[in-house]
Amino acid sequence: MRLDFSGERVLAVVAHPDDAEVLCAGTLARAGCDGATLGICVLCRGDRGQPAKPIANLAAVRRKEMAAAAKLLGAVLLRGEFGDGQLVDGPTQRQKLTELYRRFRPTLVLAHWKEDYHSDHRAAGALAEAVSWFCASAGHRTQAAALSSQPALWWMDTMNMTGFEPGFFVDVSEQIDLKRRLLACHQSQLRRSGDGDFAPLEEQRYDKPKPVGRRPA
Ligand SMILES: [Zn+2]
Repeated sequence: MRLDFSGERVLAVVAHPDDAEVLCAGTLARAGCDGATLGICVLCRGDRGQPAKPIANLAAVRRKEMAAAAKLLGAVLLRGEFGDGQLVDGPTQRQKLTELYRRFRPTLVLAHWKEDYHSDHRAAGALAEAVSWFCASAGHRTQAAALSSQPALWWMDTMNMTGFEPGFFVDVSEQIDLKRRLLACHQSQLRRSGDGDFAPLEEQRYDKPKPVGRRPA
């Protein structure tokens, strides 16, 4: 089986400003090569993941970084503007995400696995699952009209596949250089390499997937 993303509208729904670049930028880039329309929806501001030497206006810095990465990828950037560490699957958050879905009109959504290590990621995954259903329900009213059909929903790998059993992998070996450049947009996170509790992006970008699951693509 060969994946073909042509004609798709692919939306990554993530918690934090660098999550799409870490977890699914290769897949997005590959979809873009096939002619898909790309979107990244970042639900949190990225206002609390400070490096050892704190950045005063961190949310503004990270907003610029995610905008630069989205531009480089050729993706539309949508923002939820919720606080870091505060994301929950609640009515306000569902309403906001439903509006964003209906603005972008995805046919395929990439979302955090619901048992991810980070509570914001878990909430983002639960929100994406709920809204992928309700976005096509006219009874859930927003400013934009309901979608005519629900998008497909794919779960993303967790960091190092902790607690995640993939159904398939997407081969992004031809997109690795672009993924590196996308990660490099997030300098405020790359600078966190001195943190005791933070594994820097630089060391994670070449992680090889473990040989489990099926590999149709
Ligand atoms: Zn994150």
